[in-house]
Amino acid sequence: MTGVKTTAGGGSRASAGSAPRTSAGTPPQEAAVFAADVGGTWVRLRTGGLDAPVERLSSPSRLNHPDRSVTRLREDMIELLCQAAPRGAHAAISFGAAIDHLSGTVYGSAPLWGAAAEPFDLGAALRGRRPDVTWQLVNDVSAALVDFAATHTRPGLRRVGYLTLSSGIALRVADLERLRIPVDERGLQGEIGHLPAMTTAPELRRAGLLCECGAPDHLASVSSGPGIARVAERLGLDGGPALTQWLPEALAAGDPRARRLLELCIGPVAHMLRTLWCLDPHLDLLGLGGGVIEGLGAHYADELRRQLGHATSYADPGRSPDWLAGRLLFCGPGTVDALRGAQRIGRWLPGIAP
Ligand SMILES: [Zn+2]
Repeated sequence: MTGVKTTAGGGSRASAGSAPRTSAGTPPQEAAVFAADVGGTWVRLRTGGLDAPVERLSSPSRLNHPDRSVTRLREDMIELLCQAAPRGAHAAISFGAAIDHLSGTVYGSAPLWGAAAEPFDLGAALRGRRPDVTWQLVNDVSAALVDFAATHTRPGLRRVGYLTLSSGIALRVADLERLRIPVDERGLQGEIGHLPAMTTAPELRRAGLLCECGAPDHLASVSSGPGIARVAERLGLDGGPALTQWLPEALAAGDPRARRLLELCIGPVAHMLRTLWCLDPHLDLLGLGGGVIEGLGAHYADELRRQLGHATSYADPGRSPDWLAGRLLFCGPGTVDALRGAQRIGRWLPGIAP
């Protein structure tokens, strides 16, 4: 989802790139470029171009401050961003939350603000506090997609997607030919983590595993980082913090319990990809990143490719290693950066639309 540009005295959607003008109508000095990537654990800040140094601060989030009220946490976030933005800056903020880019409204983010479900107009709050700054807010997965697309574009590429598997799961797809990231009338796209998990595995059928959103048997219930821990416990394994270290080691050692756990957790992701390719044959490249992909590395990639190699019906004949090699790109740590994506979002903003 997302991409709201909120300007001084404006607040409506506007095309990207127009510099603010003085009352006399003459362009002011070149505005400072400021970017932030706001997550549940860290806020990363950068003033200047893509090569400028990055400052990392602890996020004023529910995750870091479970004792603070949502009102206080939101106020702290506004304060942090407003303090950091240089005078008259163009600010591009990648935000780890569901944001309606049409209105700038944040629907919710469990790591930042817990279960608070009432909409919050962050763009208006920033604009009200620092009207000299031009604020652009984009969802972090949209920002990651823009960064991925910028670094992996090649001739003939029609649509490109980015799938993040970490504490949550989300997908964004961009149309490179038209420079668009289509969204629905709520400003959202690809919140697939909260769709029902497609699985035929007996261990997971109507398993009742709760998602972070509170509903049972979502894709994120099974296939996110916390989802893998839930499935591990369902299999009688230790789903605690030790799992992160045990699982790659056990997979490397060929432990059948670890292999089954990975098979079960990847199954719904493989089904989702089959559906995606069935409905969108022009999706030419998909990046996969996030903590789950980074933590499990080749174990994850090999198992996903193995499952996708199997034919499930005449509609899904199974994908060859060559076919998959051309379409799936597993992204290591640091290769896709939402902060960089936020700084690159400008030319995409007019195309993030229903
Ligand atoms: Zn959910």
